Amino acid sequence: MPHTCRNCKRTFSTELELELHLDTCSDGQLYCDDCGDRFAERAATEDGWHYRCPNEDCDGSGIDDDIHRVSDARIVEQ
Ligand SMILES: [Zn+2]
Ligand SMILES: [Zn+2]
Repeated sequence: MPHTCRNCKRTFSTELELELHLDTCSDGQLYCDDCGDRFAERAATEDGWHYRCPNEDCDGSGIDDDIHRVSDARIVEQ
């Protein structure tokens, strides 16, 4: 069974390859405080206004509330 990046839909033959890819996947620009997952902006919003964590088991929602931009987090951490 191939492992698919949920951000860009690329597939990898092993879980390790997928994990290595996730660190560099340019589509994983948002992350959820609730579950810690990363995902693409288009996976979290349809209208660019209301954001919701695409993880079915997670209730995270709201940009700058539960969902943050990876680039913003880097700035805050400095
Ligand atoms: Zn990817
Ligand atoms: Zn979440």
